[in-house]
Amino acid sequence: MAHHPTPVTGGCLCGRVRYQAEVFLHNGYICHCTICQRSTGQPAEITVLIKAGTLRYSGEEPKYFQSSPDGKRGFCAECGSRIVWQAIRAEDDWLTNVTVGSLDRPGEARMTGHICADTQLGWYDPCPELPKLVADEADLLIEALRAELRPEGV
Ligand SMILES: [Zn+2]
Ligand SMILES: [Zn+2]
Repeated sequence: MAHHPTPVTGGCLCGRVRYQAEVFLHNGYICHCTICQRSTGQPAEITVLIKAGTLRYSGEEPKYFQSSPDGKRGFCAECGSRIVWQAIRAEDDWLTNVTVGSLDRPGEARMTGHICADTQLGWYDPCPELPKLVADEADLLIEALRAELRPEGV
């Protein structure tokens, strides 16, 4: 599958946090892990990957909560909207992703698969035709994405 990044804009509910980025709009993932459930207050977090180094904020930057050694979750300090999962290490920036609902045109996104399907809630089953990876398989997915999306020489 060819992946071409698309320039997009997005932001939070109150408008203080606005961003622009090039994102892989047709490389969306539905993550059912318990951290994403808590962080969003929803059954899953649905995100699209950015092209490394292209995420820019206008206005205020998000406030962050570091949820793992690898990433921090950014949200608007005023209205609380979840905006971004930001890689901690610069060399992992190709894994940084934005929430699909923060996009100005979320309807243009397409989903690729499910992550952490072992903690998927039984009553929540969007896009059931897509591949479902369990938590232990996350490394496989990251390796596959690395081969597809990681920029040359990074
Ligand atoms: Zn806001
Ligand atoms: Zn998750």
